[in-house]
Amino acid sequence: MRIGFIGLGNMGRHMARHLIHAGHLVTVYDTRPEAGVEHLALGAHWADSPAECARNAELLITMLPNPRVVEDVLLRGGAAGALPQGALWIDMSTSTPAAADRVAAEVLDARGVRRLDAPVSGMARGADAGMLQIFVGGADDDFRIALPVFEAMGDPDRILHVGPLGAGYTVKLMINLLWFSHLVASAEVLAMGVKAGVDLGVLRSSLLASPAASHFLENDILCVLADGDYDDSFAMALACKDLGLAVDLGRDLGVATELSALVEQIYRRSKAQHGELSGEMSPVRLYESLAGREFRLPNPAAALDDAALTV
Ligand code: NAD
Repeated sequence: MRIGFIGLGNMGRHMARHLIHAGHLVTVYDTRPEAGVEHLALGAHWADSPAECARNAELLITMLPNPRVVEDVLLRGGAAGALPQGALWIDMSTSTPAAADRVAAEVLDARGVRRLDAPVSGMARGADAGMLQIFVGGADDDFRIALPVFEAMGDPDRILHVGPLGAGYTVKLMINLLWFSHLVASAEVLAMGVKAGVDLGVLRSSLLASPAASHFLENDILCVLADGDYDDSFAMALACKDLGLAVDLGRDLGVATELSALVEQIYRRSKAQHGELSGEMSPVRLYESLAGREFRLPNPAAALDDAALTV
């Protein structure tokens, strides 16, 4: 298939590479030309603009930071207007239905270009491994056409068609909102428990053996507890963007989101303190400060073994 791919960052660079390896004819574009060097070495073509990337593509994939950039690339960058009739645009960015709807209303619908929203989970290491979880919104026929392409980038068992256009964006925002909420709640509990004098490892094991156990406490927080790694591969700027989009969605829907708004504020405080490029786990550091110590397990190998057994 002739595929245009725009956005070769922490996630997109791996996804585009898998498409090349799967035998597709891939043309790539990013505002940072150096981001495409590895793809050109594998046989991809370079485009000098979003419009050039879209021209002649049967399928255009975007993996961009936020809805504003998605709209900018598709409309002002000319990608939408350059797509041939009958092409399919798949936005895999964590974005909003409103941005994609504007692109469709202004250009795509009149040109007979179809679209899917297909945001992902799985972090940069899932993208690297070609094992992303993908949440797809759109028509059945378009999902079927795109499935082999998704399978080149994702875990075939976790490519989910979650509903009509927009449903993929919504599911992804809800996943991130709940995950960030898990992070804040877990860090607050650990801070209190260890400050009260309970051993960190004992506290975590006790929580895991109780009804308060969570996937986050069992697996995801281990990079902090074992290695002091706050996951720079997902920047706080993007985490705050996702939380802002989720809270905005609640406002648009008229759903009260007291807890989500508070989690967003805590993330924004951490971003101000630790920097835009700091990792998505950085809010844990706010609670480490309150506890007066870093959260580190003395025997991380044992904790990792335990986690591996339960995944
Ligand atoms: P990133 O910031 O690493 O990459 C974004 C890329 O887009 C960069 O290479 C940048 O140069 C490029 N770009 C920016 N503006 C552009 C423009 N106008 N035209 C062309 N290229 C442009 O971001 P990422 O971590 O790869 O995330 C991409 C998307 O995936 C985001 O929506 C993010 O929320 C989502 N996401 C990220 C992760 C993760 O773990 N990093 C996980 C799931 C979903």
